[in-house]
Amino acid sequence: VIPFGKSIRWQIFLYYTLLIGVGLGVLLTGHVLAKKRDLEALAQSRMSAGAVAFLPAIFPPPSPRGLSRPESWHRPDPDNPRFREAMAVLGRDEGFLMAVTEAGKVIYRTDNAPQDARLIEQSEGLQQFESVKGFPFIAVVINTPGNGRLLVGMPRTSLDAEVWVEARRAGLWCLAIFASASVVGFWIITKGLSPIARISGAAERIASGDLSGRVEVGSEGSELGQLAAVLNQTFARLEDVLQRQVRFTADASHELRTPVASIIADCQFSLKRPRDAERYRETIEVCHENAQFMRGLIERLGLLAKFDAAEAQLELTDVNVVDVAEHARAVIAPLAEEKQIPVTSEVKALMVRVDPLRLGQVIINLLNNALRYNRPGGQVWLRTSEADGRVFIEVADTGIGIPADKLDRIFDRFYRVDESREAKSGGLGLGLAICRTIVEAHGGTLGVTSELGKGSCFRIELPRTVG
Ligand code: ADP
Repeated sequence: VIPFGKSIRWQIFLYYTLLIGVGLGVLLTGHVLAKKRDLEALAQSRMSAGAVAFLPAIFPPPSPRGLSRPESWHRPDPDNPRFREAMAVLGRDEGFLMAVTEAGKVIYRTDNAPQDARLIEQSEGLQQFESVKGFPFIAVVINTPGNGRLLVGMPRTSLDAEVWVEARRAGLWCLAIFASASVVGFWIITKGLSPIARISGAAERIASGDLSGRVEVGSEGSELGQLAAVLNQTFARLEDVLQRQVRFTADASHELRTPVASIIADCQFSLKRPRDAERYRETIEVCHENAQFMRGLIERLGLLAKFDAAEAQLELTDVNVVDVAEHARAVIAPLAEEKQIPVTSEVKALMVRVDPLRLGQVIINLLNNALRYNRPGGQVWLRTSEADGRVFIEVADTGIGIPADKLDRIFDRFYRVDESREAKSGGLGLGLAICRTIVEAHGGTLGVTSELGKGSCFRIELPRTVG
């Protein structure tokens, strides 16, 4: 169980909800502010209409002598139909009125109007006031003919209440959206991440020993699908390595069993009763032969183990490939002669940085195989070439060839194409494994192409310089 603070699922979910929360908050604020602005604009237009309607009620029609002065304003008569009409425009919102002369003298105010007449000195337009009694209201101030001013206002309470109702309504919507988005989001995140749990479960099972298990890949194209595919490749490689290791150990002990059994049998026979000198000599020879065979096997296994443990040191020097190749050809010459198979050299002078002893060992091994798995009257070629900073050394023969389905396996340790035949010729199936290991330690590759019954071509590819 992953702790809450470390769980990717919860972290994603947290950021996701935070983002939605902030987004909805911004939207809600914007919406409420817009609603407030709308309501204020509506109130303003109503108050302006009220003011305009009210003007004639306190203001006598202009006399032919000119505009009447504020002094001639009269107190509006509440029974006057025009006045009632004007008050009706302000409606039920407890609207109030105040009329002031140019000199600041209040000539009319409704009872609910704020006490402070100085307020009215504000400029025209919509105003927000906080009256002396702490009575918040909005008002419209308009200039009257004769430089007087008329203030029409209303308390903020009903407007604020309406804004609040809207804010609550929108807030509830936001909450509902937030809740459903969270649920859906959590579901999507859980579903999206569920392959990880599957992958780690499978990986855990495999890591605890069941190397044949594989992770369910799901959709190949997705990131997790790719991860699963990579893990499966890794597990397959691990399984392969492990199987080879098991086979290798079994093969090695099998190879050692035969000479040891032979030594024991021969010694037992000789020791059973006194034998003549000739018989003892034969026994010693058998022991010697088998011991030598075992030494060869142990040396080869030791070499492979050293390379496996990356302990084998390559003694790199700059050498001409011709020298290494010709030396190998010279070593193999007696066998070539015995088999009457000519080894044709087509070697170019090329400088490479390699361990000449080890590379020589590889070429000798390949030439040895090319002669051993050849046919009477056959041929062997030793060639070198170069391209793109890589050096190629090829050993080709006109031998028996290798079946296509075995091509991959001949580099495996102890693998022999034909067990019975090689058992006679003494091959252990370690030669090519060692060759490949040495070439790879040089940063190169060893490959083969072959046609059954026609011949094979082993190809070493090396970088010119090894780091
Ligand atoms: P071995 O000691 O048996 O020769 P190698 O590792 O050198 O072991 O080779 C493994 C097997 O690959 C051999 O047993 C043989 O069957 C096959 N092989 C190797 N070289 C050749 C070749 N030039 N032509 C045909 N088969 C070959």
